[in-house]
Amino acid sequence: MTQNKQSIETSLITASTRGDYEQKTGAVNVPIYLSSTFDQEHFDSFGPYDYSRSGNPTRDALEKTIAELEGGSRGFAFSSGIAAIASALLTLNAGDHIVVTSEVYGGTYRFVTQVLIKYGITHTFADFSNLQEVEAAIQPNTKVLYAETPANPLLGITDIRGIVSIAKKHGLFTFVDNTFMTPLYQRPLDLGVDVVLHSATKFLGGHSDIIAGLAVTKDEEVGNQIYFMQNSMGAILGAQDSFSLIQGIKTLNARLTLSTQSALKIASYLDQHELVENVYYPGLIDHPGFDIHASQATNPGAVLSFTLPNRELTKAFVDHVQIPIFAVSLGGVESILSYPVTMSHAAIPKEERDKRGITEGLLRFSVGLENVDDLIVDFEQAFKAAKKLTSISK
Ligand code: PLP
Repeated sequence: MTQNKQSIETSLITASTRGDYEQKTGAVNVPIYLSSTFDQEHFDSFGPYDYSRSGNPTRDALEKTIAELEGGSRGFAFSSGIAAIASALLTLNAGDHIVVTSEVYGGTYRFVTQVLIKYGITHTFADFSNLQEVEAAIQPNTKVLYAETPANPLLGITDIRGIVSIAKKHGLFTFVDNTFMTPLYQRPLDLGVDVVLHSATKFLGGHSDIIAGLAVTKDEEVGNQIYFMQNSMGAILGAQDSFSLIQGIKTLNARLTLSTQSALKIASYLDQHELVENVYYPGLIDHPGFDIHASQATNPGAVLSFTLPNRELTKAFVDHVQIPIFAVSLGGVESILSYPVTMSHAAIPKEERDKRGITEGLLRFSVGLENVDDLIVDFEQAFKAAKKLTSISK
C-alpha cells in the first residue's frame, strides 16, 4: 500500500511501528530486543544485526522515527544528549575549527572548551543573533557553525536560514541543537541544516525518566560519519530506554501543546510582575528574536527564563514555590524550576557566565502539565513571601 503524506502529529504515533513488527505479530508497540548479540545463520554473510552496539532493532525503530520526524534520512540514538553532541563533533579532525554560539548549554561549552581542544579542534564563540559576528569568526580551517535555537538559558534566537546561507557560502556544515523545539515545532533540516541534535532527555522523552540523545542527518555521507562515531565511541542508547523514548514521543504533541499554552500565560503574568526585571520567551512580542523565531518555528515552546533583582530574592522565591520541582533539566510532565548558575551552566566560569547574562537573579522555568492557574497562584504566593522576607532582612 502506498503511504499517504502524513502530518507530523500523525507520524509521532505511527513512525515507530512502520517496520515489520506489527505485520509479524500485530503488536502496537515495538518489542524491546534485550539481546547484545545475534545468532548468524551463515559463515560468510551476516543478518541485519550482529551486535547491539552496532545496531539493535528497538533502537533502530527509534532512529527511524526521529529521522522521519525531522525529515532526515538517518537517525542515531545515544546514551545522552551530550553523547550525541560529542559524537557528532568528533567527526571533525585535529586542526579543524568550529564557530559556536556563545549562548550554549553548559555541558556543550565544557565539551568544546575542555575536550575538543585536547584533540586539536579549536573554537570561537560568537553571538549567533548577529550574523555579521558569526561570519567574522570564520577562519580558513572552520568546518562547522554550531547553533542552539532557542538557546539555553536565555532563549536567544538564531536565524537558521541566515547561518545556513553563511555556511553554504564558506563550504561549512551547520549543526543545530533542536532540544527546546523538537521536530514538532521546528525542523532545521528543512531549512538546510546538516545535523540536528537533541537532548531527548527533555521534551521528546517527556517524563524525566531517561537520559537520551539523538542526532539526525539528511546527507548519507554525513550520516555514515556519525554512524562510524556512534559505533566507535559506543555511547549508544540501550533497548529499554529506546522503548521508553518511543513511548514518550507518541505523546509529545499532547504534552507540548498544553505546556506551550501554559507557558504563554505564565510569560505574560511574569512580564507584568513588579518583582520581575526581564522575561525571556520567544512567544513575547518584545523578545528580540520574536519575528525570526516565528519565521522558522510554529510555536514558542514551553521553556522561559526570568530575572529577579538579586540572589537573595531569587533564593527566597525558590524556597517558597511549592508546585514545580527545583531541579536540573526541563521538558518533563512536571514543571521544573532551575537555577542556571549552579545547575545547567555551572560548567561555564563565572566571568564567562556574567558576559552571557547568566546572573545570580536568573531562573529558568520549564512548564509542565499542571493546571496553569495553580502555577500562577503558587508563583504569586512565593513572590509575596519572598518580598516580605527580603524587606524584613534589610
Ligand atoms: N542540549 C541542551 C539544549 C540541553 O539543555 C541539554 C541538557 O540540559 C543538553 C544538550 C545535554 O543533554 P543531556 O543532559 O541529555 O546529555
